[in-house]
Amino acid sequence: MIKTYKVQLKPNQVQHSLLNQAAGTSRWAYNWGLAKSIEHYNETGKFLLDGDLRKELTQLKQTSEYEWLYKYSNNITKQALKDMSQAFKNFFKKNAQFPKFKSKRKSKASFYHDPLKLKLTDTHVRLEKIGKVRLVEKGRIPTDGKFLNPRIGQENGKWYLSIGVEFEPDIGNDVSEPIGIDLGIKDLAIISDGRKYKNINKSKRVKQLEKRKKRLQRRASRHYERMVKDRCKKSQRLLKLEADIRSANKKICDQHTNHIHQMTSELVKAKPAYIVIEDLNVNGMLKNHKLAKAIQDNRLAEVRRQLEYKCEWYGVELVIADRFYPSSKLCSQCGHKKEQLKLSERVYHCEHCGMEMDRDLNATINLLHYKMYELSA
Ligand SMILES: [Zn+2]
Repeated sequence: MIKTYKVQLKPNQVQHSLLNQAAGTSRWAYNWGLAKSIEHYNETGKFLLDGDLRKELTQLKQTSEYEWLYKYSNNITKQALKDMSQAFKNFFKKNAQFPKFKSKRKSKASFYHDPLKLKLTDTHVRLEKIGKVRLVEKGRIPTDGKFLNPRIGQENGKWYLSIGVEFEPDIGNDVSEPIGIDLGIKDLAIISDGRKYKNINKSKRVKQLEKRKKRLQRRASRHYERMVKDRCKKSQRLLKLEADIRSANKKICDQHTNHIHQMTSELVKAKPAYIVIEDLNVNGMLKNHKLAKAIQDNRLAEVRRQLEYKCEWYGVELVIADRFYPSSKLCSQCGHKKEQLKLSERVYHCEHCGMEMDRDLNATINLLHYKMYELSA
């Protein structure tokens, strides 16, 4: 299955100028090739192959006048010549008008990128000879597919990446059982089929990083004290410490994000009939001033964000349970609703049918039932 995506880029000033130059190089190659083709056609009455044009361009690059071409990816000019050849072919097949020269003002600035050299993450795209460019929307493009025909172009002053993504072959249309996901505090998530995904706070790597961060912070705080006492500016050592703290933080954050990616991919790729998750109280989240809780909420929001786009990629329905749906208070077996459930009650005990179950598991099974509840309500 191939899907095409278009996302806006957020280049910095230097990158903006490099993108412009790359598009200019593409336009130049297209026009150069077109001029050569017309000349050749007028002389011989024959069509010039783009392979021949490429050879000529390679020789041209050896001259001092055209050595500037080395500054840009070889693939830009290669594809521009291919595109030009295609336009010519279309004309000969009477499918299109005679190819026109591209003008700086009227033609859309765009260039091609080699799909094998393009690196994509949730937040950035690495472009050859341009660097890591930020994406405006996080996680819109699947990063684990095969990329096809990436083009970078400008529209109304904004840069976009258009790219085809081929997904791993769809293994039949097998749909597995629907699942409910309860996002927890102790565990990252509890699945209605009984599976649990742990938090990685206690993983060796994260513990190591947290320890390193604390050590750096202690050292930095001694510098701060001295700064206040001696009324001096930040020293080079302190600036270095601050940079190291930022880098440790980033690494910890990446560990968590990758862990969440593994979980959401595993859950969605199993293609459940649908997935139900609880709604997160965003207003409540913003009001929360406790740092630990805020970080936790952030991660839950990240789980939901990833589920949202991955479900879209794989065509899985994602159901968000209403915030007022009492998933913790309902008995998942008989539907009885408790009036009160204390946070300390880790086991759900139903006074109606006598069922006993882990509190979180009961809640997540209720989430699974939400779709039916919604229909019957
Ligand atoms: Zn019950």
